Amino acid sequence: MSFDGPAARIAAAVRAGERSATSAVAESLAAIDAAGELGAFNAVTADAALARAEAIDDAVAAGDDPGPLAGAPVALKDNICTSGAPTTCSSRILEGWTPPYDATVVRRLEAAGAVVVGKTNMDEFAMGSSTENSAFGPTRNPLDPERVPGGSSGGSAASVAGGLTPLALASDTGGSIRQPAALCGIVGMKPTYGRVSRYGLVAFASSLDQIGPMARTVGDAALLYSVIAGCDPLDSTSVPEPLGDLNGALAADVDGLRVGIVSELSGEGIDGDVLSRLDAAATALTGAGAYVGEVSVPAAVYGLSAYFLIAPAEASSNLARYDGVRYGLRVPAAGAVDMNVATRTAGFGDEVKRRIMLGTFVLSAGYYDAYYAKALQVRTLVVRDFAAAYERFDVLLAPTSPSVAFRFGERTADPLTMYLSDACTVASNLAGHPAVSVPFGSGADGLPVGVQVMAPAFGEDVMFRAAAALERLLADVPRPDGAAATAAAKP
Ligand code: GLN
Repeated sequence: MSFDGPAARIAAAVRAGERSATSAVAESLAAIDAAGELGAFNAVTADAALARAEAIDDAVAAGDDPGPLAGAPVALKDNICTSGAPTTCSSRILEGWTPPYDATVVRRLEAAGAVVVGKTNMDEFAMGSSTENSAFGPTRNPLDPERVPGGSSGGSAASVAGGLTPLALASDTGGSIRQPAALCGIVGMKPTYGRVSRYGLVAFASSLDQIGPMARTVGDAALLYSVIAGCDPLDSTSVPEPLGDLNGALAADVDGLRVGIVSELSGEGIDGDVLSRLDAAATALTGAGAYVGEVSVPAAVYGLSAYFLIAPAEASSNLARYDGVRYGLRVPAAGAVDMNVATRTAGFGDEVKRRIMLGTFVLSAGYYDAYYAKALQVRTLVVRDFAAAYERFDVLLAPTSPSVAFRFGERTADPLTMYLSDACTVASNLAGHPAVSVPFGSGADGLPVGVQVMAPAFGEDVMFRAAAALERLLADVPRPDGAAATAAAKP
């Protein structure tokens, strides 16, 4: 049962010669085509995907093993570099730019037999929580087209939740994998900082960014994670730490596991329907033999403030490279400085400009100590408070998102309202710890609620152990409407 899910099943069938990679990829391409109104994809690489699928089928016919993801279609967030297709970050400023190389994760996917089918829509430069900040128009939530899929990885989440691809890769700087996963009813995981190479990931905030998997089951997410994880000499922040026994972790029970509910993330500001699903998860884990208790991570309440100083500071530096010379768009003007200003004015959207201004401000002489340095101190407190919590608990539990999927336009008028969407997720990024969102039934309007499992650095195995248990336990937990809750657990 370990690595189980739609992608694992495709790969098993392709490796055994029971189905062709070509049929799996053609099916995915047809589903993408039929779901155009979702706005999930910026580009579909149909020809390259079919050619690749044929090569995999030829390999199987020749007696070779294409790898653990043989023939499994994967969607890539459009901030992951691909030499065969443009990488836009859903921004006009990268218009017409195709990277000269593939990201390390893309090379690892191909080495494992996976087939990239396209690039997914996102908030511009991964800044946002609803995918409404895309320069190409928003992505819709497949479960309710009047609502956002979350963000910034809304396209990847919609692709998996809508059944367009069994797998997707995305990036998570402050919650961009986990929050859309929660809002779309799928599994989304942010690995430990340093676990997955960011070579070829367009940088947003380099001390926070990680690439991670989205899938319909915990087993598929763990499988995709195991393929992309590992040290890479091309990313100096990647770490040569062994992965642990993921298969064993997925199969293990939670008897005796110590699970802490983070009090600062499970009270004020979180909707009642979300809190009641967290309670249901805690009760289910207790019933399965886990020890569940409350734990305080005091600095977590300042996480959002620290994040919205550190992330924009790093973004203002990282985005300085879009100068009208090196990449994409150039708006001609009389001199270099005017050209630079005209290009950036036309090329960046409002949210990106807001972050650049905020970041430049907090780094400027006179304000650096008051804001940026202070935020770094808070970050140290977050790390220290988590360390204390993990002396008593193996994993921590919290909601992923304070609410279920919201309607278009509901949070765009006031940026601070949008930023509150990240309240439960940013702490793991500040600490560099792994965290995963697992669907745990539904809340308001029958929309999915995600429960977040957090673990200490390089604790992905124990994190997956708790996540897999939650997925299994969901089947036994009655939903508020009385229906069986097996749909989310067994697609
Ligand atoms: N929503 C957060 C932000 O707007 C996180 C984004 C992300 O993780 N890329 O910054």
